[in-house]
Amino acid sequence: MINLELPKKLSRLGDMAHAVAEGMFRPVSRKYDRLEHTYPKELDMLRSILQGMADGGSDMGADGLSREKKGKRKEINNGTNMAIVLNMMEICWGDAGLALTIPGQGLGNAAITAVATPEQKKRFDGKWAAMAITEPDAGSDSAAIQTTAHLDGDEWVLNGEKIFVTCGERADLIVVWATLDKELGRAAIKSFVVEKGAPGFKVTHLEKKLGIRASDTATIMLDNCRIPRTNILGSEAIDTKKSFAGVMQTFDNTRPVVAAMSVGVAKAALDLTRDLLEKEGIRFQYQGNRFDIPAIEAEFYRMEADLEAARLLMFKAAWMADNGMPNSKEASMAKAKAGRVGNDITLKCVELCSSMGYSENILLEKWARDSKIFDIFEGTQQIQQLVVARRILKKRSKDLK
Ligand SMILES: Cc1cc2nc3c(=O)[nH]c(=O)nc-3n(C[C@H](O)[C@H](O)[C@H](O)COP(=O)(O)OP(=O)(O)OC[C@H]3O[C@@H](n4cnc5c(N)ncnc54)[C@H](O)[C@@H]3O)c2cc1C
Repeated sequence: MINLELPKKLSRLGDMAHAVAEGMFRPVSRKYDRLEHTYPKELDMLRSILQGMADGGSDMGADGLSREKKGKRKEINNGTNMAIVLNMMEICWGDAGLALTIPGQGLGNAAITAVATPEQKKRFDGKWAAMAITEPDAGSDSAAIQTTAHLDGDEWVLNGEKIFVTCGERADLIVVWATLDKELGRAAIKSFVVEKGAPGFKVTHLEKKLGIRASDTATIMLDNCRIPRTNILGSEAIDTKKSFAGVMQTFDNTRPVVAAMSVGVAKAALDLTRDLLEKEGIRFQYQGNRFDIPAIEAEFYRMEADLEAARLLMFKAAWMADNGMPNSKEASMAKAKAGRVGNDITLKCVELCSSMGYSENILLEKWARDSKIFDIFEGTQQIQQLVVARRILKKRSKDLK
């Protein structure tokens, strides 16, 4: 028999995250949807709680890293990714925009976890890291980035513009993708940790967005920005076989997290829709001849089944990462499925609840707006399908574009 139950330790973590989502995020969800670009100060308390968990030697922080006493971290090989996706799924049930701006939990942190050396992990421990890949002429095709890095003595000098950087204004560090040599294409792309306040670093613009408004999305200029030589993640050497694979490895860890966010928001929409429909007298009985079930009930079951499929794909991709298995295909499958069904479900819930769903009196319309981003960032729906097709057909990116 297949056991799909979560281990107790993870279940407890999920329950804790759910409590935070319900008690801290939901009450201020609408407030920060309206107050775009205002830092949600309530999150400082969460930072203190996470710090307290670290200092108190609790088993696991909200980022899924186990911690030894006196605040030192120790990574668990089997469970880190599972813990992160579970945590994100539950937190996003509360509010995805707020989840994206929890201090210390940026996508750059995932990149550091995936590719930093033990010395770097220690050095950047406890810092909040954003991730800057996208540029005006490089979105889906991340190999097209134009930002450059060159060595000058003991420092890297970075030049370029990064756009749509989540937490770009609020984070302590930005993990920046830059090329060491444009002529050498994707093999020369490396990631660099740029600390806020580094000379030549400037946040120049904040986006106004459709959804996830509690989260800041910044444009960053790097104008002869100087950082220490030791801030490159991974090796300085340009290895034409492995280099890009190194930075792309980040996505194998982050795509299941985005899938989890999508699942969490869709679950929130389904839960509220169920409550509202039950108040209108609809009964969800999960039985009877499928030809006799009312259309609205059948629609609801279809959405639940879709969401469960996405949730299981998300867990599979995270579990594979925890167990050292190559998971690019599964990570993209999870994100493609979760992004698509998340968009479908949140919009369908607005439809099923009609005028009430469309009104700002409840959060359904907000979740439909928030959900859209999960099918865009960390690779769009089309890009995930492309990655899956390449893996199944055993084609390289130059052969299947
Ligand atoms: C709110 C928000 C937050 C973001 N946060 C970050 C962040 O923290 N860090 C970061 O680096 N970036 C971030 N991004 C950028 C995001 O990752 C990009 O928007 C995304 O990768 C798509 O790039 P693009 O917008 O340039 O679209 P394009 O690449 O121009 O794509 C446009 C359309 O063409 C399709 N398409 C492109 N290529 C193909 C192909 N080969 N086959 C089929 N279809 C294709 C795409 O799927 C899409 O539908 C964020 C974006 C938003 C909106």
